[in-house]
Amino acid sequence: MNRQSLISDLIAATAAERVITDPAELFVYESDGFTIAHARPAAVVFVTSTEEVQAVITILIKHEAQIVPRGTGTGLAGGCVAFDNGVVVSTVKMNKILAIDMENRVAHVQAGVRNTSLSDAVAQLPLEMEVSLSAQEPPATSSPSFDPVDAMAGAALTTPKKYMPTTNPYHFAPDPSSQRASSIGGNASTNAGGIHTLKDFVTSNHILGIEMVLASGEVIKVGGHNGAYEGGPFDLPGLICGHEGTFGIICSLWVRLVPKASSFRTIVAFYSTTADACNAVSDIIGAGHLPAAMEMLDGAMIQIVEDAFHFGFSRQAQAMVLIELDGIDSLLDAQMKEVCAICDSHSPISGQTSSDPNRRAALWKARKSAFGAIGRISHSYCTQDACVPRSKLAEVLQRIDEIGKEHGLAITNVFHAGDGNVHPIFLYDDRLEEQVQNTLAAAERVLKYCIDIGGTVTGEHGVGVEKIHIMPYQFDQPTMQQFLRVKQAFDPDERINAGKLMPSEKVKISLIKPGRHVPQ
Ligand SMILES: Cc1cc2nc3c(=O)[nH]c(=O)nc-3n(C[C@H](O)[C@H](O)[C@H](O)COP(=O)(O)OP(=O)(O)OC[C@H]3O[C@@H](n4cnc5c(N)ncnc54)[C@H](O)[C@@H]3O)c2cc1C
Repeated sequence: MNRQSLISDLIAATAAERVITDPAELFVYESDGFTIAHARPAAVVFVTSTEEVQAVITILIKHEAQIVPRGTGTGLAGGCVAFDNGVVVSTVKMNKILAIDMENRVAHVQAGVRNTSLSDAVAQLPLEMEVSLSAQEPPATSSPSFDPVDAMAGAALTTPKKYMPTTNPYHFAPDPSSQRASSIGGNASTNAGGIHTLKDFVTSNHILGIEMVLASGEVIKVGGHNGAYEGGPFDLPGLICGHEGTFGIICSLWVRLVPKASSFRTIVAFYSTTADACNAVSDIIGAGHLPAAMEMLDGAMIQIVEDAFHFGFSRQAQAMVLIELDGIDSLLDAQMKEVCAICDSHSPISGQTSSDPNRRAALWKARKSAFGAIGRISHSYCTQDACVPRSKLAEVLQRIDEIGKEHGLAITNVFHAGDGNVHPIFLYDDRLEEQVQNTLAAAERVLKYCIDIGGTVTGEHGVGVEKIHIMPYQFDQPTMQQFLRVKQAFDPDERINAGKLMPSEKVKISLIKPGRHVPQ
């Protein structure tokens, strides 16, 4: 590859100020949120339109450079790191909301739009809901023993009344904790989950259609674009969600807008053991409840969050469960009573309930900021991610704790307990190579254990480069082969993000390398 000629071509296709080549500036793009994986890209190019993406891809193919798509770089698996002199193609400047169609409850956004920007924009829109309400009074002679069925039958829906909610009650539901920073293209590419995944499901359930540029330079448009789900013989948007930038570059997406809940109850319960807390979570689901969210923090995490946000949380607690119920206001108190009774049956130290929206907002802000608050106690941290059967959460946390002790590593946990999506957070110092290797080794043991007990290699953060070597541990050879065939159908010559998600002959990345250089 002739770097100078490559850079000149990129500048000609975009703009000088949108091509980064200075090592000091490139440093920012050497890693994502999984800082153990890092490499300096040959360049970073910021694209603004589908046509530019096509032009840039054509140039990168000509210069035989690996194409590495990147959203806002909040990923936690090294998926957007450009190894092997690859070029990062950043979509952060593709940040236009192209259309919000309230009639069909769909928005069309460029890939770089930040997750919360869309819901913020929708909230600003007036919503004119023409609701035909019965304007006709029941006849004066109607029976005092009012029968709702008869009353409906007799009421003529003739005079429409206009009902105008004060703020638009729709939003884009996927809510990864990174949602103020992460891009919708990145959310789709990792099939991000979030705090409300328990009830709202993952990103793929909210993506109707996708426009993507393939390594051939061709643009494909798959799925429905006008609020409809049906968009072709296969569920290609579903297949693309979670591709981790290995199929092409997503340029725009058509996404569902769904109603936000407006009534909530929040329950916080503190326990003296993580096992009690986990068993409460498992029993709540087992009893048939579907909270909007059920999150858990362990003892160390409670201290970290309390130090940062001063909620008055119980400092002697070893676990905290944060539960949100949403739905029809008049039904919520009864549901809350039942959920509290289950929490009580596992001997909590204390508990709080609230229907105050400000308290709710503050608690979720703290939960979403929990990762960041770890910076107060550790130089570096690495967040692991796996899904396990909810009924096994208690033993999983115990085993994670044991593995941490065996490796002499502090591990703390904050996770989506309702989904069985664990996030053990390994605390270490990345200036010390042996600590990096120790962390990787412990993380691998944790992941393999999660798979052994019926879990998955990833819960929501993707595979990236971090877990690529564990893929064959979960998936047998024919299944791995089929994954590769799917990749080949989109990118037969492995030009895009090779060596991520699936093993590649072309780009091999190993993080476990004693003596590996770690920047100071
Ligand atoms: C504090 C914190 C909290 C987090 N909480 C959650 C959480 O609750 N749930 C969750 O699921 N994740 C969470 N994450 C992880 C991360 O935010 C998500 O994976 C997010 O979806 C990544 O979006 P991004 O725009 O930053 O993508 P990037 O990190 O830039 O890229 C991620 C992957 O997607 C690919 N990609 C990005 N954009 C495109 C595109 N336009 N076309 C093709 N491929 C593309 C990249 O190549 C890479 O493989 C969290 C991260 C942090 C730092």
